[in-house]
Amino acid sequence: MKKIAYVATAAVVAAAAVAVAAVVTLNTLRLGSRQISVAPLIPPPVDEHGAAERLAGAVRFKTISYETPSDSSRSELLQLQSYLQAVFPKAHAAARREVINKYSLLYTWIGQDPSAKPIVLMAHQDVVPIAPGTEAQWHADPFSGEIKDGFIWGRGTWDDKGNLMAILEAVESLAGAGFRPERTVYLAFGHDEENGGEEGAKAIAALFRQRGIRPEFVLDEGMLITEGIMPGLDAPAALIGIGEKGWATLKLTATASPGHSSMPGSRSAIGALATALQRLDSNPFPAAVAGVAREMLYILAPEMHGLNRVALSNLWLFEPLIRRQLTQIPSANALLRTTTAITVIRGGNKDNVLPGEAEALVNFRLMPGETAAGVTAHVRAVIGDPSIRIEVLPRAGEASPVASDSSAAYQLIARTVRELFPNVVVAPGLMIGGTDSRHMVRLADNVYRFSPVRARAQDLARFHGTDERISTANYVEIIRFYLTLIRHAAGQRELLPS
Ligand SMILES: [Zn+2]
Repeated sequence: MKKIAYVATAAVVAAAAVAVAAVVTLNTLRLGSRQISVAPLIPPPVDEHGAAERLAGAVRFKTISYETPSDSSRSELLQLQSYLQAVFPKAHAAARREVINKYSLLYTWIGQDPSAKPIVLMAHQDVVPIAPGTEAQWHADPFSGEIKDGFIWGRGTWDDKGNLMAILEAVESLAGAGFRPERTVYLAFGHDEENGGEEGAKAIAALFRQRGIRPEFVLDEGMLITEGIMPGLDAPAALIGIGEKGWATLKLTATASPGHSSMPGSRSAIGALATALQRLDSNPFPAAVAGVAREMLYILAPEMHGLNRVALSNLWLFEPLIRRQLTQIPSANALLRTTTAITVIRGGNKDNVLPGEAEALVNFRLMPGETAAGVTAHVRAVIGDPSIRIEVLPRAGEASPVASDSSAAYQLIARTVRELFPNVVVAPGLMIGGTDSRHMVRLADNVYRFSPVRARAQDLARFHGTDERISTANYVEIIRFYLTLIRHAAGQRELLPS
């Protein structure tokens, strides 16, 4: 009897294995591309040399956002704005220019159809400083606007003067060709994005609200065309940010009786804090291949090859495996969970004195749906020490709402990418950092964060880092992207229903 039962069980297991293998194979094979198929466009002509020179010119203004705003940066902002007026005369003749809070710019290119909802293109004028001590590592002076080896070099060429100038190049060229938009096109260029956009983008958003402006879509800087970054994916991937993570910093304070180190008590402030931090480090928030990350992998799976394609086409089976792999890679891990980063620790000032207090700052980046209150509850539960004080520092913000990747606006952006970059695949993505667009999320459902800057893994360190640069060829592509997008969204034969 035993033997028969064993044989029967083995047969059932074998049959189940065959069935699973069949489903896995079927899922993998039947997976067709989820990309929009469009005919490639003949790229619109761009004055490559002139555009590169104009961007280089913009880089020379040191519109740096320091922790505390400086007078010299403010004067550089005003000089940059005069420069924009000088080099883009047609754009300035076509669009009304307003100065918001002294340094931010809002352009209104009025559409002929007042009933059509407007679109908003965003960029920012300010840049981050050069990290002290790294100046000499640059292969070009960061503010000289040098053009060499096929690249425009300098702080802001990517983040974000490249986008700002490319948008104006597109408007200049369209206005010069007699294009008149059907729907209104707003250009919103904040001046303090690198400090949170409190004076710039936030004020522009308030003005929109006051004027009753409800954009069809908002497009800001953010995600990129990544090349060779995703395992198993040969094609470059244009990731369109449909949401961005939130931010919360918690201050943890442990207290104990201060005193002489020769007679320590059973509990020390630093020891209690260290225990709490150790528990936080070893109890991260749960990770899941869900939400935007899952949608991104679902869209990209058919474009992949090898085991990645098989695994991602069968998340029902391989989710735990994929999750384990992705959480080993910091950038991928950040897409799957609210992250915990212990960034500051303070306590004690003399080797023979026990401090009465020790404190730490822990920075969390919140997944869509998570709240600062939820993070605080998690921290309290994990550290399990009610004597440790927990405070949420100001500037906490929840994640943005997640915009749809099936809206007409998203489809239009994806289509424009596919027309101009036929070998690039498009997928939605989640931004780990913040952008000025977060100030717009209550005005519009469709807020996206993308520009077609091409980046390989080794380029990512250039963002806010050393040797920031953009190739002239890629800069031309970015201008073509904005030009085509405006034409599609606001041209006479509109592709965007509203
Ligand atoms: Zn930026």
